[in-house]
Amino acid sequence: MKILKFGGTSVGRPDRMRKVAKIVTGDDLPKIVVLSALSGTTNSLVEIGLQLRNKKLQEAKKIIESLCDHYLRFVDELYQNEPSRSRAVKMINKHFDFMRSLIQKEFNDVDEKALLAQGELMSTHMFHYYLQEQNFHSEMLPALEFMAINEDDEPDFDYIKVSLNDLISKNPNGNLFITQGYICLNSEKQIDNLKRGGSDFTATLLGAALSAEKVEIWTDIDGMHNNDPRVVDKTFPIADLSFNEASELAYFGAKILHPSSIIPVKEYKVKVQLKNTMAPDAPGTTISSIEKEKEIKAIAAKDGITAIRIKSTRMLLAYGFLRRVFEVFEKYKTPIDMITTSEVAVSLTIDNDKYLSEIVEELNVFGEVMIDRSQTIICIVGNRIAEIKGIVPRIFSSIEQVPVRMISYGGSKYNVSVLVDTQYKNEALKGLNLGLFDL
Ligand code: ADP
Ligand code: ASP
Ligand code: MG
Repeated sequence: MKILKFGGTSVGRPDRMRKVAKIVTGDDLPKIVVLSALSGTTNSLVEIGLQLRNKKLQEAKKIIESLCDHYLRFVDELYQNEPSRSRAVKMINKHFDFMRSLIQKEFNDVDEKALLAQGELMSTHMFHYYLQEQNFHSEMLPALEFMAINEDDEPDFDYIKVSLNDLISKNPNGNLFITQGYICLNSEKQIDNLKRGGSDFTATLLGAALSAEKVEIWTDIDGMHNNDPRVVDKTFPIADLSFNEASELAYFGAKILHPSSIIPVKEYKVKVQLKNTMAPDAPGTTISSIEKEKEIKAIAAKDGITAIRIKSTRMLLAYGFLRRVFEVFEKYKTPIDMITTSEVAVSLTIDNDKYLSEIVEELNVFGEVMIDRSQTIICIVGNRIAEIKGIVPRIFSSIEQVPVRMISYGGSKYNVSVLVDTQYKNEALKGLNLGLFDL
């Protein structure tokens, strides 16, 4: 079994959706196709939710109607015959009627999650109908019947595995399955999601649950690049990455992969390939357990970081101090990314500031607490990177003009990270591209 995931831009235009159909029907090998929503849709759904929450009903209605027009035009262009068109229009109207119904009621969190799921529900059915119109046999695997998260919002892997195998065994002759990325049920059995960009995570969870031969992630670029191509002009695709390297890059902001998406495939050793839907013959990036020699592979940046410094004279020689600090973060289920300590102070970073005020209130007991918002972690990744001679001076001379707030070296064999104020991010990424890759 192979898993093929196609992102928003890959299905975002009728001609591209047809291209995807060509790719997935190119052979008869068993496969599951995971689709995102058409590009722009989830952003629009988020916006509709925001307007409904703020009781801006006319604004919400406007976005719903313009999105609906977009889908009707898409459908008109995608299909070649009338029965397929009217079948798709009927399906789309059902989803937009649901969205319209939200305008009439008190909007809550449960409605919001159901609203966010509409994009993937529509794109997969549109694709399924298209394959049928083209006389290809495909089966729908409804994600809400097997994809689930637990009370901690983590995938319930055992449940996923059992339910998925069950569903597949009910279709013994099926060899082309289609499912929704991103969406799932939560522990309350309500519709939920795997966070933005979550279709990658769906694909790798499927790959791990079925011990698939490989997972292909099809997107709008020819693989993982050595730096963020949205910021830096000269970047290049990386042919091979190890699971460890890819997982650091994903976690530290390389948008091409969802932050958690490498975890399941790393554990089950399922190879991942990043491919370009617009250039299917480009080699892309292969992610596997093979670790190459020491080398600098890529740079990634994660925004939205908050740095917290706790200064305490009582900390001097006090054992048990860090444990008590960590317990505060544990209590509020807030992971810490970077940490540095001195005799009288500890600095750490978080990317989820939902409970920041509660955390600060509890930390105040230990000493003076200072907060810096709008920080960016810049992460330089490569196998045994910290062992490369002279790596630290090279990093620092590349970003000479940038004030560095924190540095993490030696914590992992695969990365060296620096924390900078976000206003310096672009300058730092460009400087590192020149200093580390000569580009
Ligand atoms: P999809 O909709 O297919 O999931 P995404 O937009 O989530 O696609 O991810 C692909 C985009 O990620 C690329 O178009 C690129 O702009 C961005 N990106 C950021 N960092 C990297 C990187 N290091 N390598 C490749 N792409 C990157
Ligand atoms: N549609 C969702 C998003 O835009 C999931 C995804 O594309 O991976 O975040
Ligand atoms: Mg994505």
